[in-house]
Amino acid sequence: MKTLKCDLCDHEVQGETFEEWMNALKPHYGEAHADVMKSHSGSEEEMKTQMNKWMSENKARFDAA
Ligand SMILES: [Zn+2]
Repeated sequence: MKTLKCDLCDHEVQGETFEEWMNALKPHYGEAHADVMKSHSGSEEEMKTQMNKWMSENKARFDAA
């Protein structure tokens, strides 16, 4: 089990795998960073690119934790 901070604040989230961690982070993101999620608007292609970027950055953080 790894503990990793949210990429936007000091809120800590635990997960056995990156996928688990990401799922555990989602409700926090929706509550604390809803404005950030809203600002991530654009075409479907842009959303996908942003999501992939977010995932690869946070996967690297998770692996390093
Ligand atoms: Zn946060």
